[in-house]
Amino acid sequence: MLGQMMTQPLLISSLIDHAERYHGQTEIYSVETDGSVTETNWAQVAQNARKLASALSKLGLGPQDRIGTLAWNNRRHLEIYYATSGAGYVCHTVNPRLFPEQLTYIINHAKDRVLFFDATFIPLVAALHEHLSEVSHFVLMGPRNEDAIAQIPGVEFYDELIETGDDDFRWPSFDENTASSLCYTSGTTGNPKGVLYSHRSTVLHSFGSNTRDVIGFSAMDVVMPVVPMFHVNAWGSPYACAMSGSRMVLPGPGLHGEALVKLVDAYGVTLAMGVPTIWQGLLAHAEKSGSKLASLNRTVIGGAACPPSMIETFREAYGVDTVHAWGMSEMSPLGTTNNPLAKHFELPLEEQHKLRESQGRPPYGVELKIVDDDGKDLPHDGVTQGDLLVRGHWVLDSYFQMQDEDLLQDGWFATGDVATLDPDGYMTIRDRSKDIIKSGGEWISSVELENIAVAHPQLATAAVVGVPHPKWDERPLLVAVKAEGSDPTEEELLAFFDGKIAKWQVPDKVVFVDALPLNATGKVLKRNLRADFEDALTG
Ligand code: AMP
Repeated sequence: MLGQMMTQPLLISSLIDHAERYHGQTEIYSVETDGSVTETNWAQVAQNARKLASALSKLGLGPQDRIGTLAWNNRRHLEIYYATSGAGYVCHTVNPRLFPEQLTYIINHAKDRVLFFDATFIPLVAALHEHLSEVSHFVLMGPRNEDAIAQIPGVEFYDELIETGDDDFRWPSFDENTASSLCYTSGTTGNPKGVLYSHRSTVLHSFGSNTRDVIGFSAMDVVMPVVPMFHVNAWGSPYACAMSGSRMVLPGPGLHGEALVKLVDAYGVTLAMGVPTIWQGLLAHAEKSGSKLASLNRTVIGGAACPPSMIETFREAYGVDTVHAWGMSEMSPLGTTNNPLAKHFELPLEEQHKLRESQGRPPYGVELKIVDDDGKDLPHDGVTQGDLLVRGHWVLDSYFQMQDEDLLQDGWFATGDVATLDPDGYMTIRDRSKDIIKSGGEWISSVELENIAVAHPQLATAAVVGVPHPKWDERPLLVAVKAEGSDPTEEELLAFFDGKIAKWQVPDKVVFVDALPLNATGKVLKRNLRADFEDALTG
């Protein structure tokens, strides 16, 4: 016997319909490419999305054709998100920070038919144009622009294209398992791989992220996703915020500390999300400018390990609660978030704080386990570490157009992370499996060493990598960037580890660099450091 309840497909268009109907006047502030700020609202975004969808459907595209974007977090990008998926096309967000060869590969592999781009990327698109054979419409996200006309043959303009759409366009209905959006992982080896999300996985992910112990966006929040809309859909916030009717601040291209502090203070941001490197800049500027970040209640920090010292600074200096989160493109991205359990409030404050440092626990919809090299389950005792496997409603099953039948292990996806799990499900990332340092048969977590190093007041940032060692195979090397106006010595930095970890885990050596090499999503390129300093302990 089947249940006798209504069945409605879980479609992305239902999110924007809801936001329009019940939160239509709720403001969205968008920093444009030229730095000006436009105010719009959910009703306007919804109307424009429908009109754009109508305009796109007149271009002769087929169902699930891919529509690429090279764009910052702004209102037109938000409209494209809903217009493309809502009309049954696939919104393919492309990371503009990738190398031109990678961009060409990705856009061609995805067979993007239309490419929307912000004015920032006119020179980039002009250079790529002739290599993008599948793209038949290059659309600048703005009004007519002579610069673009001069550089890109046949360029079209968003503000003109949208006018060709009909006001009475209605969202089509289709199977909720239909593909909705596509995002390529930056991949440290081989070509980037596409993760193809569905309407169903996206709506379920939005429900999941909107539960209180995950992120719990609210109609009372002013949400600023600093995490880009070209990287795992800004952690799903454009969808989840429509579901909850939150105000949004879309920060555009300027992601440096000063710009972000100004936005927080000007628009009363209550909840902001991003990778640790972004918050380093924001905290440095808040201190310099004297801003108290008065409106900010919560930050969600993930994408890379959030140093405990950062959580502490937010808490002690600004009264901001940090939710440490872990996930990956293959998980839409939310895998875990660190919020406490009721029983934790009985613990002394210091222990409560300590418990907030890990990557947190999975919400309903995600399951985690750790296994050894033979794929055997390992205990969730908070100590044993192993390869982290996941499964769930918004976890990928296979990569876009790739033959990878062996991708899953008994229905579980191997994340490539090494972690511990405690009996309550709290997970601590020890490392990416390829970054963990194997010293004489023992494993050293580079993340743990980095967390200690970056708390040193005379360092701006630091990374730890394993480099070849004649006796121990590998030993940790601290690669450090000095804070402005500071000049710490190697001895001082190494002494800073004393008492914080076992002696044999302390790095063997420190090298100073001006800046760390970062990949297109702001993560440290450890393989470059390993190559650069290969001989540091043997040479
Ligand atoms: P991406 O798919 O580019 O978002 O990268 C996902 C990877 O980033 C994960 O597999 C982790 O290695 C890393 N990562 C994400 N969040 C965290 C976190 N909170 N702590 C440590 N590593 C993280």
